[in-house]
Amino acid sequence: MKQVQRFCDRCGRNIPEGGSILEVKAGELVGKLPEELDLCPDCGSSLLSWFRSGHQANHAVPGGAMSGAAVG
Ligand SMILES: [Zn+2]
Repeated sequence: MKQVQRFCDRCGRNIPEGGSILEVKAGELVGKLPEELDLCPDCGSSLLSWFRSGHQANHAVPGGAMSGAAVG
């Protein structure tokens, strides 16, 4: 069987076998992200923490998107 190399969609690193594959099945990200994201473990965990911290606030950001919402 030929092994398929997977690369992190975020940093481009080679994902070791058993690395994170994030499936976007529900929530607001459906349609905004590919259904399946290949993420290395590092990016997977950082994306998850970003998702948890930023995504709880369900309100739209006043003044438009990406207007420097406080991160960290
Ligand atoms: Zn990565």
